Amino acid sequence: MTLLGLDGLRVEIGGRVILREVTLAVAAGEAVGLVGESGSGKSMTVRSVLRMLPAGSRVTGSITVGGLDVNRLDSAGLRRMRSRDVAMVFQDPRATVNPVRTIGDFLTEVLRDQGISRVEANRRAVALLTDVGVDHVERRMHQRPHELSGGLLQRVVIAAALATEPKLILADEPTTALDVTTQEEVVAILHEQRRKRGTALLFISHDLELAAAVCDRIAVMYAGEIVEILPANRLHEDARHPYTQALLRSRPGAVNPGSRLETIPGTPQSAADAPAGCVFADRCPHAADHCREVRPVLSPVDSGLAACHLLPNGVPHVA
Ligand code: SF4
Repeated sequence: MTLLGLDGLRVEIGGRVILREVTLAVAAGEAVGLVGESGSGKSMTVRSVLRMLPAGSRVTGSITVGGLDVNRLDSAGLRRMRSRDVAMVFQDPRATVNPVRTIGDFLTEVLRDQGISRVEANRRAVALLTDVGVDHVERRMHQRPHELSGGLLQRVVIAAALATEPKLILADEPTTALDVTTQEEVVAILHEQRRKRGTALLFISHDLELAAAVCDRIAVMYAGEIVEILPANRLHEDARHPYTQALLRSRPGAVNPGSRLETIPGTPQSAADAPAGCVFADRCPHAADHCREVRPVLSPVDSGLAACHLLPNGVPHVA
């Protein structure tokens, strides 16, 4: 059953196109990774779901959560969705948690907003912190954010996201601000806890491998469009879009130690600057004239969907 549905989502900010025709469905309990280079529109996609776009944004197409049309929700409906059905984990935990309040206050406030008593909210906050692997929980409840490391604080933010038992968590590069070892721990906790609870996840990352490790499916974005969607466990075998293949070849693990890393020629483009046809045409080694003029649509290929005029037969598998 579809929990989150994006259909032909288009966003313009100040007349500049940011997203063009984003179509994606996330099922209840499913984890989908949204990957791509900086500026590809990943964060704007998740912000659209919560209607957290800058003033003056123009949104067309549809966004549904649990069958509700997000763009038609009144302010009470939007507040209910944000506080109960959908939780967000941002990149930087220090920008999320009020620096002058205690961790206990931060967590119990989320619960008390649901009408839960102070005593029960306190009990649940302790249990949540324990679930996400925070040590010395009773002491942490009385500490302030500056007394916790970035990794511990991001666990607190994950605990807050889980507190209302949402149906969907939107995680926007939740480990980018952390060191590599801590990143792995935090992602493992998010993965374990959301699976245990059956919570769906839209996981934003520029790291294909990381997303594939914790997600069921991967959606690859470039210049405001989704160009390929495929099962995470078929990423290496079935990636067919030239952009996904280039991303796979340019990851650090793709070359032997000491060898030169492959890069994608050219620079990432925004949706506004990309060609009207295929958004990847200016950087694609297979581009033909009609690629720049005719927009390819997502079509079935192997185990997933890809938007490329050469498919299903013309593009080689990743070596
Ligand atoms: Fe490359 Fe053309 Fe396919 Fe776009 S449609 S990815 S430019 S071959």
